[in-house]
Order: sequence, then structure tokens, then C-alpha cells
Amino acid sequence: MNTYGHRDTTLVKGEGPYVWDDRGRRYLDAISGIAVCGLGYSHPKIVDALCDQARTLIHCSNLYLNRPQQDLGDLLLRVSGMDKVFFGNSGAEANEAAIKIARKFGRDKGIALPQIITADNSFHGRTMATLSATGNAKIQKGFDPLVPGFVRVPYASVDAVAQAGNNDTVAVFVEPVQGEGGIRVPPTRYLNELRELCNERGWLLMCDEIQSGNGRAGAYFAYQLNGILPDVVTTAKGLGNGLPIGACLARGDAAGVLQQGNHGSTFGGNPLVTRTALAVVETIVEENYLERVQHLSQLMLSGLKAQLDGVKGVVEVRGLGLLIGIELERECAELVEKAKQKNILINVTNARTVRLLPPFILSDEQAQEIVDTVCRVIKEFL
Ligand SMILES: *Cc1c(COP(=O)(O)O)cnc(C)c1O
Repeated sequence: MNTYGHRDTTLVKGEGPYVWDDRGRRYLDAISGIAVCGLGYSHPKIVDALCDQARTLIHCSNLYLNRPQQDLGDLLLRVSGMDKVFFGNSGAEANEAAIKIARKFGRDKGIALPQIITADNSFHGRTMATLSATGNAKIQKGFDPLVPGFVRVPYASVDAVAQAGNNDTVAVFVEPVQGEGGIRVPPTRYLNELRELCNERGWLLMCDEIQSGNGRAGAYFAYQLNGILPDVVTTAKGLGNGLPIGACLARGDAAGVLQQGNHGSTFGGNPLVTRTALAVVETIVEENYLERVQHLSQLMLSGLKAQLDGVKGVVEVRGLGLLIGIELERECAELVEKAKQKNILINVTNARTVRLLPPFILSDEQAQEIVDTVCRVIKEFL
């Protein structure tokens, strides 16, 4: 269908941070397949896990246990501080599970029409419930009637959440950093204050870490930078480094809400995907990629700021970990093509923000090359 607009580059191969098109041209991928391939392409440990599992057992219905699902679950719970996990196949599905948990949590307390507070400018997915949760009219346009039960408030304001809440409120659902919304980083204590508010009012704090999770923020999950634990965490994108997997993790009361028969997925948690994701999580944690992300983040953000701060037409360089945004005064979608002509893949989100989501495996030189090329392309455009 016509969902993705005009595309004229066919990618045929990837290795490390590079991809090649069908004409043999090589590109440095500064968006990692949209925050997916944090460990780059063709990573030997991940390819080995995938191939070995493909020869062993690809599918196992959820009528039976499978070892990789158990192992990945155990590791994710250890890394996240959560108590239980449900595996699906995408970010939107992880969020669907979170929304179902919030609703049933409320219904179990006798709230007939549970409401979930979400943020303006957020992105939670393209299924009916997740697009209804999303704070972006463009994503919703044409799909009324929306799923009810979502209340939107300005991002990064705890007061706005406190005021919007009422007796029907069951959860607050936010991205720790807004990704699609233009790499918006909230004040440092935003999540801490939301945590306190949710504790006072008996609401679930649910974090959408589909983009910010799996090391990208410089901690395994961004909420860990705040030293808090949400009640529900969703993640996907980088979890499978390219294999489709999503996870909804929950803790405490939230972890016990979904009972037998309440939710399920044919493919969710299948051994091929969970074995591969297990190799991804192990590699990120054991090979110190969280520190590496912090180092690359510092290198790239300071390099971009040194070259772009104060330049006319540049609003701001900002970021957290390897979620980096460069907001310009005017719309700049054509920068994607201009950067591609210089062999670098970037992305523009929210019309005016250049978004960089580079892989964690970059060398310092490759990170510097992205900084220099992106600055050159922006300066030529302005
Ligand atoms: C990408 C994304 C989603 C949707 O994930 P899909 O796998 O495309 O369904 C949801 N929330 C956030 C924050 C995302 O970045």
C-alpha cells in the first residue's frame, strides 16, 4: 500500500554501522534503522544465535514453554527491576498490553471507565488504541472514532498531569524522552515527580521505552537514570536488533493484573526471536555498551553544539544518550536526501528536527564523521 511514500534506494547488505545499496554505494547509518540496530548490522554474536536457533526450533506455540523465552524473560527482569514480562512482536503490541493492564487495573478497582493520561506530541504506535493514545493529530486524522479513555496533557509538566487526573484516572503513560516528537528531553526530575504523584494517587506510572530503551539513553532503560521504577515499561525497537519483538514489563500489583485468558499472541516470545534478543541484551550489558553510549553521546553532542550553537536558523542541539535532535527554524525534510548524497543516513522528525539515532558500535572517528557531515549539510541548507 502507499503507506511509506516515495523511496528510491534499495538496501541489499549491512555490516557494522554501514549499509550498501544495490548500486554498491555504501552509507554510514546514523539512524540505525530507526533505533533498531544499536549493535549494527551482521553482528557475529547475533547472527550466530539466530542461525543456531533457526536450525534448532523456530516456533513454539504458547501452549508450551521454550527455553530462550524463559532466559530472555529472566534477563530482562533482572536488568529492568520488573517482576513479569509479556512478549509481543512490535512496539505497538507492547503498548497494547500496557493499555490493557492499565484498564483492567482500574476495572478491578471498580472504575467503570478508566482513563489514561498521555502527553501532547507523544508517539505510541499505529494500532487503534496506540494511535488514540498518541498526542499527534496527524497520526489520528482519518481514523475516527478513536478509542476512548485517553486524556492528553502538555509533555514535561507534572502540574498538568496532577490537574488532569480525577477519580477515573488509572495510569500516566509517557516516553522518558520523546522520540518521534523531536527528541524532547524533559527536566531531569520529571519522572521522579511523576513517580511521587502516581504513588500519592494510586495511579500506574507506565514508561514507553520502545525507542529510549535497550541502552540507547545511556542506561539500559532511561528511567534508571532517574533511579526510579515505573509500574509498567514497554520496549521493542532495539531489543531484537532487527528481529520483530516487543516486551511489556510490569512490577508489583501491575504485574498481577493480566490473568490466564486475558491476553496472548501467536508469535510473541517465539524461540527464534527470543534467542536472538537474548544475545542482544547480553551483548549490550556484558560488553559495556551503556558506557560506550555515554561516551559517544558526549562526543557527538559536544561536537554538534560546538559547530551549530549560535548559528542562525538553528534552534537547539539536544539529546540524551544516542537520541540526538537538532531543531531548525524551518522545515528541513530535504536534508535526508542531502545527507544521503554524502553517504550518511539521517532522519527528520516533527518536520523541523534532524534526528540522529546512531548505533552503539561506532568508533570515535565514525561518530566524528557523522557530526562533521551533518553540520556541513545543515550549514549548506540554512
Ligand atoms: C516506534 C515507537 C512505537 C511503535 O513501535 P512499532 O514497533 O512501530 O509498533 C511506540 N512508541 C515509541 C516511543 C516508538 O518510538
